[in-house]
Amino acid sequence: MYSQLYFDYNATTPCTKEVVDAMLPYFHKDFGNPSSSHHPYGWLANSAVEDATVSIAKDLGVDSSSLVYTSGATESINMIFKGVASNLQSKGKHIITTKAEHKAVLDTCAFLEDDGFEISYLEVNSDGLISLEALQKELRPDTILVALLYANNETGIIQPLEDAAKLTHSNGSLLFSDTTQALGKIDLSKIMDLVDFACFSAHKVYGPKGIGLTYIKHNKNYEGLPSFIQGGGQQKKQRGGTLNTPCIVGFAKAIELTSKDFEKEKLRLESLQNKLEEGLLKIELAISNNKGKQRLPNTVHISFPYVDGTNLLTALSRKIAVSNGSACNSASVEPSHVLSAMGVERSLAYASLRFSIGRYTTESDIEKAVEIVTNVVAGQREQNILWERR
Ligand code: PLP
Repeated sequence: MYSQLYFDYNATTPCTKEVVDAMLPYFHKDFGNPSSSHHPYGWLANSAVEDATVSIAKDLGVDSSSLVYTSGATESINMIFKGVASNLQSKGKHIITTKAEHKAVLDTCAFLEDDGFEISYLEVNSDGLISLEALQKELRPDTILVALLYANNETGIIQPLEDAAKLTHSNGSLLFSDTTQALGKIDLSKIMDLVDFACFSAHKVYGPKGIGLTYIKHNKNYEGLPSFIQGGGQQKKQRGGTLNTPCIVGFAKAIELTSKDFEKEKLRLESLQNKLEEGLLKIELAISNNKGKQRLPNTVHISFPYVDGTNLLTALSRKIAVSNGSACNSASVEPSHVLSAMGVERSLAYASLRFSIGRYTTESDIEKAVEIVTNVVAGQREQNILWERR
């Protein structure tokens, strides 16, 4: 086992034992194909998938026929954007999103731009929020889709979805919200009714990797999404391919567990979040990028001036798993596009860390993390001549 403390729950979560236990029979004993409709192996697998879907739909407060299983949120996002683009291109080729979306959205938008769609990227302010006036200004008769990340994966900041939904729908456009990080952390019951599309991923909620969901709200003015994966006719022909029974069962169990004790766990996380933030903000000049904002109960985001971000991460990686949201490619390391969109200055954006906590984080982990980061930041600054001369 690793000796590092895990503070990267927004990247992924461990599969809870009860989830693994629920999945296990479907790998071996109950291994049937849910589409095998002529024998009990298939019937059993099919009923496990059906029960799981009903359970997820109940927990999300949606109709089970509005859910399509995918390999994860990235695939769901591709399905939604490309599906809406293909269905509605005769109405228009304009899409609105924000500069602070997850890369799964931004890269899909870039793909559609290459295909002749026009994308407007809304700015976010220093609080990480879009301006509703700016959204209103960008909406046009040919705007087919508005995409707004509900809870940001880096900062945890929550967007004003209710007002955005009103503007979007009164323009006759469809609304997608990336709800991947929100699931299990904040109440989604009111949100599901506001959006036309949403996406989920099991590995963010203590479920298995490789399984996700697309939510497609029934809409009498809209015919649903086209299918991009043909074959076998599964999922009412929306997405072909043998259903992944163990992962679907695991996903349902994972969501069921997050729904149980939801409020209690949220309060526990908030208290740990505040303790972590308070501790880290005692470091001289440390600045929070999300304190006092509407945010997820598990995400702390801090900038440490006079520290080199790469060196900081390397030094911390031996003791604590955190993230800085930077995008690495072979040629360069770019600072987080989310912080850049919020106007955080480049060198400060490099020296910023996301600490995301979760189900297995304890008070003692928080104390250790604060001590580790305090010492590492102090050590880094000692080597920085600018720190001495400040
Ligand atoms: N959207 C958000 C906000 C995320 O945080 C992630 C995961 O990092 C994704 C989409 C992509 O999810 P998946 O790993 O299931 O493809």
